[in-house]
Amino acid sequence: MSNDILAAEFSATPWWWQHAAPYETSDGPGGGDYDVLVVGSGYAGLSSAHELARGGLSVAVLDAQRIGEGASTRAAGLLSGRAGVSKQIDLEALVGRDHAARIFDEADEAYAYLKNLVREQSIECHLEDGGRFVGAHTPAAYDKLAAKAREYNRSGGSRFHMVPRGDQRDYVDSDYWYGGMFTEDAGSIHPSLYHRGLVDLCRAAGVTLVGNNRVLGIAEDGEFRRVAADHGEWRAREVVIATNGYTDTLSPWHQRRLMPISSTISASEHLGAERVRAVLPRGCPVIDTRRVVCYARPAPGGEHILFGGRARFSPLGPAESARILHGQLCEMFPQLADIRVTNAWSGLMAFTFDFMPKIGMHDGVHYAIGCNGGCGIVMMSWLGRQVGRKILGSAPRTSAFEGLDYQGRPLYTGNPWFVPIVGNWWRLRDWLEVRRARAA
Ligand SMILES: Cc1cc2nc3c(=O)[nH]c(=O)nc-3n(C[C@H](O)[C@H](O)[C@H](O)COP(=O)(O)OP(=O)(O)OC[C@H]3O[C@@H](n4cnc5c(N)ncnc54)[C@H](O)[C@@H]3O)c2cc1C
Repeated sequence: MSNDILAAEFSATPWWWQHAAPYETSDGPGGGDYDVLVVGSGYAGLSSAHELARGGLSVAVLDAQRIGEGASTRAAGLLSGRAGVSKQIDLEALVGRDHAARIFDEADEAYAYLKNLVREQSIECHLEDGGRFVGAHTPAAYDKLAAKAREYNRSGGSRFHMVPRGDQRDYVDSDYWYGGMFTEDAGSIHPSLYHRGLVDLCRAAGVTLVGNNRVLGIAEDGEFRRVAADHGEWRAREVVIATNGYTDTLSPWHQRRLMPISSTISASEHLGAERVRAVLPRGCPVIDTRRVVCYARPAPGGEHILFGGRARFSPLGPAESARILHGQLCEMFPQLADIRVTNAWSGLMAFTFDFMPKIGMHDGVHYAIGCNGGCGIVMMSWLGRQVGRKILGSAPRTSAFEGLDYQGRPLYTGNPWFVPIVGNWWRLRDWLEVRRARAA
């Protein structure tokens, strides 16, 4: 593939940042005493801080980068409730039917919470609640999706509908998939405008936000914890770690339990509403069932397409990532072969070994961590808030995500060297399955 797919104005920054870049805070690095210190300024950290400050506590948020510069201003903006937390796993087999039902209900509550927050606080972030099409890459994947739809509908009404191949053009102008599932339980958002809305809520509630100040260590100091950062020393009664895919040596315990995995997105040049609508007639995102997932969505305003996935499992520059993603997009939508890419960027997500997000406490420090891919906007906002409520003592019940088994792997210390091997094996299996399905 040639350089031709890169637009002249190609940039390696997120498309979202033209509307809201990571926040440059004017709060000084300083130091000081707070009721709670939050490490990490993504959705989890800010949601926690907002809840705590609303509850009357003094709160500071510290981030090693600019505020929100981690994954939270880089996401694709796909939202979902229960379908987001169990894509990769058999949840009932993992935690049992009753606990699985509680997790599904809480994931739905988390999605409803985000939508309410956006509406009640008038956060202008292009929230769309129009569902999602999940395309099956093989007939067998369609059958598995049908089983998932039954599982989701069992305690959640009838929001998951199977779409036979003959009807899929209502959702996607493509014959790539063998039918799919439409979920009403999904939508999309402008991730960095949503993040900026959380920044504004935190500021209005009196939270101190300090960027470019990495936390280096946390030590007990009587009823306080002493927090050493690049610039200054802090003391707090409680500390929350919300560092997700960017977790560093501050917490080796978490590093041993998380795999940071890079994900990449591209944005198309201006295509116009008619062309975007021709490809995605319902205006809702499409994601597929391959192990190495691909997705596409209209950008807010409906005049560009954003598409993403795992371009490669080893480090790769943005231009090369853009070319690989463009090739994957054209497999699904050959009619887009001529489009140019204006932006390509990546960020880190955190996977746990059982693919479940976690909240809890270790060594006296609270955490909300482990987004496990593309459900982090809803889930990390929610889990951050849950940690805040727990500290305040205002949670109506124990979260279904608390107390889940949280294991590492023998000899694993945080460098997921095996991910390229596993990822390429998954990609090969996807490719073989698609080939076999086409040949049948
Ligand atoms: C390319 C991409 C696409 C995605 N698409 C979607 C999507 O469509 N839908 C969806 O729901 N989710 C999506 N996600 C996942 C989602 O973005 C994340 O789950 C979510 O942003 C995580 O929020 P967080 O607050 O937990 O972590 P982050 O936003 O990653 O914030 C963690 C912060 O911790 C800071 N930090 C780390 N160590 C320290 C330290 N020692 N001291 C101070 N600060 C520290 C980092 O600088 C970082 O800013 C995507 C992610 C990526 C990368």
